[in-house]
Amino acid sequence: MHSIRNPFRRNRDSAINNRRLRGPILLLVIGTCLLAYFSPPSDSTEPLLAVSKSKSKHPPAQVQLPIIKGVTVTEMDDTKPKEAANTTTTTTADKEDPFSKEYDNCIVGAGLSGSVIAENYATKLGQTSLIIEKRNHIGGNCYDYTDTETGIRVSLFGAHLFHTRHERVWEYVQRFSEWVPYEHQVLGIVNGKHVPIPVTIDTVNTLFDEKIASTEEMDEWLKKEQVTFYDEDGEEREAENSEEVALMRVGQRLYDLMFKPYTFKQWAKYPAELGPEVLSRIPVRNNHDGRYFSDPHQALPKDGYTAIFDKMLSSPKITVVTNTDYFEVRDKLKCKRLYYTGPVDSYFADLGWAKLEYRSLSFERVVKDNTPGYFQQASVVNHPQATDVDGKEVDFTRIVEYKHLLNQTSDKTIYFIERSKDGGEPYYPVPNDENKNLYKRYQEMAEKEEGVTFVGRLANYKYFNMDDAILNALELFDKDTKDIKTATG
Ligand SMILES: Cc1cc2nc3c(=O)[nH]c(=O)nc-3n(C[C@H](O)[C@H](O)[C@H](O)COP(=O)(O)OP(=O)(O)OC[C@H]3O[C@@H](n4cnc5c(N)ncnc54)[C@H](O)[C@@H]3O)c2cc1C
Repeated sequence: MHSIRNPFRRNRDSAINNRRLRGPILLLVIGTCLLAYFSPPSDSTEPLLAVSKSKSKHPPAQVQLPIIKGVTVTEMDDTKPKEAANTTTTTTADKEDPFSKEYDNCIVGAGLSGSVIAENYATKLGQTSLIIEKRNHIGGNCYDYTDTETGIRVSLFGAHLFHTRHERVWEYVQRFSEWVPYEHQVLGIVNGKHVPIPVTIDTVNTLFDEKIASTEEMDEWLKKEQVTFYDEDGEEREAENSEEVALMRVGQRLYDLMFKPYTFKQWAKYPAELGPEVLSRIPVRNNHDGRYFSDPHQALPKDGYTAIFDKMLSSPKITVVTNTDYFEVRDKLKCKRLYYTGPVDSYFADLGWAKLEYRSLSFERVVKDNTPGYFQQASVVNHPQATDVDGKEVDFTRIVEYKHLLNQTSDKTIYFIERSKDGGEPYYPVPNDENKNLYKRYQEMAEKEEGVTFVGRLANYKYFNMDDAILNALELFDKDTKDIKTATG
C-alpha cells in the first residue's frame, strides 16, 4: 500500500475507477523548446551577482535565505524528487493502491501530452487512465505556482506564453480556462541599449543610428546587409550551417552583435558548428511590429497553467500518481495500452546505446523588497552579448520578471536569471547530425514497440511549443482510437 496525497488536487472525490475492463488485459511489461536573448539592465542599480546564493528544493518549499539589501537570491535546483522510487502520491484521498487496479491506459508523464491523452480517453470514450509522474506535481514543464514570498504567480521551468495558429488547439484549450489576450514583447540589451526582439526597424535604428521610416527602407537596409553564398559554379547556394543562415538573413553586424554570442551562450557552440535549422527561423521584421509571436491566437490562462491541468485531470476516470518513476513500477502495471511521454532513450536504456544530448537551464531566483513597480522594462529581457558595456561578463541569457504577466501587483518583485547548461532537466534537444542519427535509431525501435505510443517532446526528441504538444497528442489519440470509433459508430 502506498501513501496517498496530492496537494495539487485536493478536491477530487475518487480517482480510481472500478470500471470492469472489457476483453483481455494486456499486461504491459515494458522492457524496454528560440531565440530568447539576454547582465543586468544597464539601468539596474542592483549588483545581481554580488549577493549570496543557496540551493533550494522547490516546489513548494523555498529555502529561507538571508536578505541582503532587500534582495534574496535562490539558485533553483532541479526538481527531481529524491524519494521518487519509494513514495507514491495520488490525486485523491483514495485509500487503495492505485497499482492494484486495471486501467485502459497507462500514461507516463503528467505534462501536456499525457494530460491531453488522458482527458480525451475519459471524456470521449469513458476509458480509464493511470498517469505516472516522477515529479511531485502535475503540469510537466508548464507547471506554475504562486510564489509565497511575493504573491506573484511564476513558472517553475521558465516563462510560458501561449500562442497558436491551430484552430483545433485554440478551441480545445477554451474548455479548461478563461484566456486573457496577451501579445508578448521581448526586449534585448545590446551595447547597453534596450532594443525590440525580434529585429524590427526600431532595433536597427537604435543600434546603428539609422533613420529607417518605412518597410521599403528596411528592406533596402537588410538587402545591403545580407550575405549571399555561391557554389563552385557561381550559383547561389543554400546555407550549410546556422552562421550562414544568420548572415543570409541579417548580415554580419547584427549577427556579430546578437546572434553569434547568444547562440554560443545557449548551445556552448558557435552557429557555424550547428545545423542550419537552429537559426533558420530568425524572425526579422521590416516594420515596427515588436510582438514576439505572430500567431493569430496569443493569450495567457487567467488562473495559470496548473489550474488547466487540474481541470483536465479532474475526471474520476483519471488517476494520477506523482513522485513515481515509471521504471520503478512498470512491472506492476495492468493496462491495455501505454502512452510514454518521457525521454525515448531512457525507455530503451537496456539497449546500452548512447544517450541523446540535451541542453538544460538553471534559474536563479531573485526577490526585491520595496518594489511596487518593476525591476526591468518587460517581462522578458534578453542579454545576448557575452559582456556588458563595462566589459563585465554576462553569463546568462535572459531575465524573466513575472509580475508583468497579467499585470500582477505586489510590493515586491521576483525575477529569474536564466543560464544555459549541460546536464539537469532535459529541455532543448541538441541539433547535430550525431543526435539526429541516434534519434532515428531510437525512433525505429519505438515504431516497433507494440502497444506503446510515444508522445510529446521528450519521446520525439523534438522541441514542441505547447500548441504543438497539444496537437500532437490530439492527433495521436485520433489515430489510436480510429477503430474504436468505427466500431462504436
Ligand atoms: C524553458 C522553456 C520555456 C518554454 N516556453 C514556452 C512558451 O513560451 N510557449 C510554448 O508554447 N511552449 C513553451 N515551452 C514548451 C513547453 O514546455 C512544452 O511544449 C510542453 O511542456 C510539452 O509537454 P510534454 O508533455 O510533451 O512534456 P513535459 O512537459 O516535459 O512532460 C513530460 C512529463 O513526463 C515526466 N516523466 C519523464 N520521464 C518519466 C518517468 N520515467 N516516469 C514518470 N514520469 C516521467 C516528466 O517529469 C514530465 O512531467 C517551453 C519549454 C521550455 C523548456
